[in-house]
Amino acid sequence: MAKAVDPVCGMEVDTERAVHKAVYKGKVYYFCSSHCKRAFERDPEKYLKLGPQGMPAL
Ligand SMILES: [Zn+2]
Repeated sequence: MAKAVDPVCGMEVDTERAVHKAVYKGKVYYFCSSHCKRAFERDPEKYLKLGPQGMPAL
């Protein structure tokens, strides 16, 4: 079972079952929820530079 880390909240995501993913600069990122995906798409560089920030605020 392949795992990836959600770059937004730091949770482990099963890449085979993930429904929330995004491609950024040729790399695929997986998210635990559409909420994390939207937060990443809003400001990808923030999460790639600083690392997971925990669950984004609603
Ligand atoms: Zn998440």
